[in-house]
Amino acid sequence: MLALTAARPAAPYEDAKTRLAEAVEADRDEILDLSHRIHADPEPAFEEHHASTWVAEVLARHGFIVEHPAGSLATAIRATRRGGLGGDGPRIGILAEYDALPGLGHGCGHNTMAASGVGAAIALASLADELPGEIVFLGTPAEERGSGKQIMIDDGLFDGLDAALLYHPCDRSHVESFPLASEDVDVVFSGLQSHASSDPWRGKNALDALILLFTSVGLWRQGLRPNARVHGIIREGGTAANIIPDRTSAWFMIRSDDEGEYQTMRARFRALCDAAALATDTTVEVTFSGGARTMRNNRVLVERFRANMAAYGIEDEGDDPNAGSTDMANVSRVCPTIHPDLAIAPPGTPGHSILFRDAAVSPRADEVTLLAAALVAQTAFELFSDPALVAAAWREFRSPD
Ligand SMILES: [Zn+2]
Ligand SMILES: [Zn+2]
Repeated sequence: MLALTAARPAAPYEDAKTRLAEAVEADRDEILDLSHRIHADPEPAFEEHHASTWVAEVLARHGFIVEHPAGSLATAIRATRRGGLGGDGPRIGILAEYDALPGLGHGCGHNTMAASGVGAAIALASLADELPGEIVFLGTPAEERGSGKQIMIDDGLFDGLDAALLYHPCDRSHVESFPLASEDVDVVFSGLQSHASSDPWRGKNALDALILLFTSVGLWRQGLRPNARVHGIIREGGTAANIIPDRTSAWFMIRSDDEGEYQTMRARFRALCDAAALATDTTVEVTFSGGARTMRNNRVLVERFRANMAAYGIEDEGDDPNAGSTDMANVSRVCPTIHPDLAIAPPGTPGHSILFRDAAVSPRADEVTLLAAALVAQTAFELFSDPALVAAAWREFRSPD
């Protein structure tokens, strides 16, 4: 059990940070109820209607002006609360994802992120009279597929932000993340039906094309660098064994830690699709979507979050060697951004698994959700209270290294 209100927060602003932790603790039931409800009703990317409604309701109850839907996405939220000190203070963004994984549920634990983001926002709202600027909560759909944050960026919903903060659950605690550039690729092969026994020679087999593509990708992997990934599933593989399939489809993802190399991989993957179609006399349609970029961790923010975390006895375990991808990396190209992860499960628990899904409603996950809310709120409070810190974060953003 983490002692949320027993620990002495990190300097500076220890008293305000203590009150933020107490505010999270006071709203414990409301925050955890949100986490559990979202977990019990998993909704995939772009379909988070219940989750976004519940998140919006809590924010409205705590005095936020809520836009829902926000921009072009039905399940996006932008909720704001102005600080009582007025003036031109910073706009600090608290982000929350709430999409689940098809066929698995909350195997990425976004229920804990949604609840902690709301917890951070309402804790800050309880100190609004002491803040300049504006608290900006952004409910960001479609992280697992589609890069909803990029759509929200294009919709102007990140305009004017001075920082973007969130927390993600993990099997280890680390403040910096190095996600891979990534895209989804939908591949559809079209052939010609015929009887698979009486006159197969009249058909054009779209399944053969798909099998060739998977084989080519498997052979290609030997030549890929360790931090490149290509992986996929078959969505449609034909309809009956006695029909030559005239349509098959797959969903792939391509990833790399190097954006230049990523472009080379993208072209090569496209060539493998064309080659499979050529070999089977079929045609192919290849659609890339939902691009995520590589991350620019803002070190000024990283240092502050790390210090706040250490006060609660949580050490930074260092960069995660096993990276996925996230559209938070796209946000990191727009304003100073961090993507800290906190452990809710034992080390080695695989992400996107039943084990991780079950961990996301464990008593440990609940305590970490509350702690994450306090840490995000405390880091945001520092930014609200110290213009030099915001300036330093922007300096780092404009000239990294
Ligand atoms: Zn996730
Ligand atoms: Zn995920």
